[in-house]
Amino acid sequence: METYRTATPKYTILMSRLFLEIAFMFFWLGCFLIRFPFAQKNKKNKVVEDQKTTKEKGLLGLTLLGMMLLPLMYVFTPWLDFANYTLPGFLNLLGIALILPTLWLFYRSHKDLGRNWSASLELREEHTLITEGVYKNIRHPMYTAIWLWVILQALMLQNYIAGLSGIVSFGLLYFLRVNEEEKMMEQQFGEAYIAYKKKTKRLIPNVF
Ligand code: SAH
Repeated sequence: METYRTATPKYTILMSRLFLEIAFMFFWLGCFLIRFPFAQKNKKNKVVEDQKTTKEKGLLGLTLLGMMLLPLMYVFTPWLDFANYTLPGFLNLLGIALILPTLWLFYRSHKDLGRNWSASLELREEHTLITEGVYKNIRHPMYTAIWLWVILQALMLQNYIAGLSGIVSFGLLYFLRVNEEEKMMEQQFGEAYIAYKKKTKRLIPNVF
């Protein structure tokens, strides 16, 4: 009896496309649950400096497409199936392993930024400069978390369109925004931000 031939190895089930899709959707929902209360609360905080240009709005729209609409389309319709790829299992596993650290950093950065947070380039009434918590060693921990998000999206949604659209759309937003954000902060906080810049890196503590 060659029963071993019909037995499905456990890791095949675990790493199946469906499992990865479901796990990713839980991650994705987790990000929403983290952000939603902050977005609600901060609506009350008046914006005093608004740099939400047409470029900013376009970039935000692009991330909506790349990090939300295309992943949803991949998970819930067969329309993108022609662009599927399959990664080695250890890369899928790496994606899964990134879920908890990413949710943690996403939550911490919202929590530490508190009432100063906005999805766009804005300064709020009584805006304070945050330099503690996850902001102690890096200036953009929320962007670090979102970089991790789009990397795990590519590792878990194995599709050239829905997997890579996060990296492309957020990458564009990040590189076209980060200098302007720092310039805005420098205008607002002057020497304090310059000193903060000197003792921190952008995304990875002590490295980059
Ligand atoms: N770039 C940061 C914050 C993203 S939210 C991060 O990745 O963690 C974007 C808004 O946060 C900006 O419009 C700016 O008003 C605000 N901001 C960015 N850095 C800040 C800081 N150190 N302290 C207070 N507000 C900050």
